[in-house]
Amino acid sequence: MRHPSVLVCSLSQRTLVLKMTTIHHHIGGTKYESSDRHADVFDPATGAVARRVALASVDDVRTAVDAAQAAFPGWAATTPLSRARVMFRFKELLERHAGDLAAIITSEHGKVLSDARGEVTRGLEVVEFACGIPHLVKGEHSMNVGRDVDSWTEYAPLGVVAGITPFNFPAMVPLWMFPVAIACGNTFVLKPSERDPSAANFMADLLKQAGLPDGVFNVVHGDKVAVDALLDEPRVQAISFVGSTPIAEYIYARGSANGKRVQALGGAKNHMVVLPDADLDGAVSALLGAGYGSAGERCMAISVAVCVGDATADALVAKLAPKVAALKIGPGCLDPEMGPLVTGAHRDKVRGYVDAGVAEGATLVVDGRGHAVDGHSDGFFLGGCLFDRVTPEMTIYREEIFGPVLCVVRVPDFDTALRLVNEHEYGNGTAIFTRDGGAAREFAHRVQAGMVGVNVPIPVPMAFHSFGGWKRSIFGPLHVHGPDGVRFYTRLKTITARWPETHHAEFVMPTMK
Ligand code: NAD
Repeated sequence: MRHPSVLVCSLSQRTLVLKMTTIHHHIGGTKYESSDRHADVFDPATGAVARRVALASVDDVRTAVDAAQAAFPGWAATTPLSRARVMFRFKELLERHAGDLAAIITSEHGKVLSDARGEVTRGLEVVEFACGIPHLVKGEHSMNVGRDVDSWTEYAPLGVVAGITPFNFPAMVPLWMFPVAIACGNTFVLKPSERDPSAANFMADLLKQAGLPDGVFNVVHGDKVAVDALLDEPRVQAISFVGSTPIAEYIYARGSANGKRVQALGGAKNHMVVLPDADLDGAVSALLGAGYGSAGERCMAISVAVCVGDATADALVAKLAPKVAALKIGPGCLDPEMGPLVTGAHRDKVRGYVDAGVAEGATLVVDGRGHAVDGHSDGFFLGGCLFDRVTPEMTIYREEIFGPVLCVVRVPDFDTALRLVNEHEYGNGTAIFTRDGGAAREFAHRVQAGMVGVNVPIPVPMAFHSFGGWKRSIFGPLHVHGPDGVRFYTRLKTITARWPETHHAEFVMPTMK
């Protein structure tokens, strides 16, 4: 007899499969079928192909940009207040359908249902931010910059803008981008990850129900062909990218060379420094959630615990290891603590890193490589892995693993810990656990990372701040959403005006008196 929740789980997934055998593009407010290339989309919990997704051709991308370009003048001419009202309706719909969207995410990504709900909530917060757009695009005004001369600034939309997003947050990362872009008066083409593409279409349908005019938001599914077509399309004014560092660097170089505004967020290796005076139980709980939540497939996951002093490391590992070994792992729809990895290929890559760590001499305290989930022998599962005595030259320290693998590095003092974080090529997020306010303050000011937590392991900024890393975790000057998002998706215009009663030519450089 199967547990009733297993039945619910497989039934809901089967319903989705029946509804969406092939995932098509969404262009001009409607389903757009044309591609002759497709990719498989898996159910990570069973390992089975659940559906397939269309892979756009260059012509398909051109069609999407045609639709976005045609919609732009009308949308840019609507008032910010009307655009905000569409966002308010979208927010209501997203709230109402948050459970459905979370189930879709879980069915293709594999993350546990409550975590998928959390992802939807964090995305929703950006929609809430975008509802304030009339206030956010207000310019500044200076009266009498010269005698009878006034000057003011305006924020104008750019035109057609595009988003290219990763698999690990199929709803939240697109939501970092398009609500702000659209609210600013742009039209949008989204190219989501081909590994979990359905969330994008679901949100496109909700936007249509919210009253967004056709063509303002379009989805093209695909791979490098679609991405390159967007990078080379002259009508695309700006590209927002989130994904791995090699691709981020490529997007930034090619997009910028083509004259586009680009923000490209890349990979990460987030360190959590644990000082000897830290609340150790708090640090252990934090590491468990931040290292193994979403099976470590988060750009803000903690993948390195830097312990100051052997006594700190010994105590931390002793408390953490049994908890890692006991993680509840299973299909995401049953809402255990950890689900499967996104694909078999990714699971094998992560397992390969664990093999490399052993071969390079790190101590594998918890080995999740043999972990089996009852009734899911073909699912893409991997148990939690914990390494101790990792050193900076090891592959598992240098490279982003993006799986449930935590590395403990032992250092003698605070300065060595700080130097370690600062010398790593990535600088997305970092955290310090301590009871010493002075040490925390010094860490926050001297550390080379974009997002810093003090006794907070995953310091993701709220929607009304901006999100982004430093060093090779980002290419481009502006972070996403919040104030930087508004700046990214608008151009500044400054107008200087006089209403003269007399006319005369000025041959010298104008200065205001
Ligand atoms: P990825 O780089 O493989 O893919 C991201 C996007 O780029 C996808 O849409 C994909 O189709 C496209 N793409 C892949 N290869 C391409 C190529 N050769 N040419 C053009 N386009 C290509 O990343 P992923 O595996 O989907 O996501 C995981 C990565 O994303 C991790 O490195 C993670 O750290 C990073 N990430 C970073 C942040 C952040 O805020 N910095 C947030 C989420 C994820």
